[in-house]
Amino acid sequence: IVDARGLWKRYGALTVLHGVDLSVAERELVFIIGPSGSGKSTLLRCLNRLEEPDDGSIHVDGIELLSPKTDINAARRRIGMVFQSFNLYPHMTARQNVMLALRKVLGKSRDEADSIAAAALHRVGLGERMDHHPAQLSGGQQQRVAIARAIALEPRVMLFDEPTSALDPELVGGVLNVMRELRESGMTMVVVSHEMAFARAAADRVVFMADGQKLEEGPPAQIFGDPQHERTRAFIRQID
Ligand code: ATP
Ligand code: MG
Repeated sequence: IVDARGLWKRYGALTVLHGVDLSVAERELVFIIGPSGSGKSTLLRCLNRLEEPDDGSIHVDGIELLSPKTDINAARRRIGMVFQSFNLYPHMTARQNVMLALRKVLGKSRDEADSIAAAALHRVGLGERMDHHPAQLSGGQQQRVAIARAIALEPRVMLFDEPTSALDPELVGGVLNVMRELRESGMTMVVVSHEMAFARAAADRVVFMADGQKLEEGPPAQIFGDPQHERTRAFIRQID
């Protein structure tokens, strides 16, 4: 459903992606790991064209994202993204935050947006707190609102960039549980995270990146248990 080929990204003299390929099958959860600065966020951001790759091709759900003929806003509707920072509007309730996306992006009526938002917030376990403002919610709850906002738009694929990195340790589990349920419901997901236990339990495939290249990929048991590349071994040793 996602097929990125030969992605190059340079910032001035710095080459951040060196011809990276990444394909993700429908219902697959691909987990990306690698040292800081290896290009994980840049790769994810290219997948919904928050960054413009210098070269390569990206098909999402059959649409070539990099073609000048593609309506990028229409294409982006198929791709949900959740970041480390939740980016909620502080003056709006959880429900209003989700509704705003539905009204602006999908042009839903107020009533329709209201019922879809309520269903999405129930799904992430916030049925009781829909009318709270972000400041009245924990970081984990705010992140779950951000996930609800993304899934309410019914994307074909969800991208997560370190969704739990900003959270206190006791709040991480709730967000990972929501991600696990999303995965079980059949959502296609690409996750950049340091939650290795989650990767072992939930990922179909783990990709190891270093210096803007995909050095190794395989099932979690292989990448964590029997990594082939020296850089992967060093990385796994250091996080274990
Ligand atoms: P981390 O684990 O720390 O989040 P990462 O693997 O996500 O790292 P990226 O954020 O993709 O790494 O960054 C890859 C490289 O690109 C880094 O060297 C970074 O400094 C550089 N970089 C990222 N964004 C820009 C930018 N807008 N301008 C210049 N350099 C950038
Ligand atoms: Mg990053």
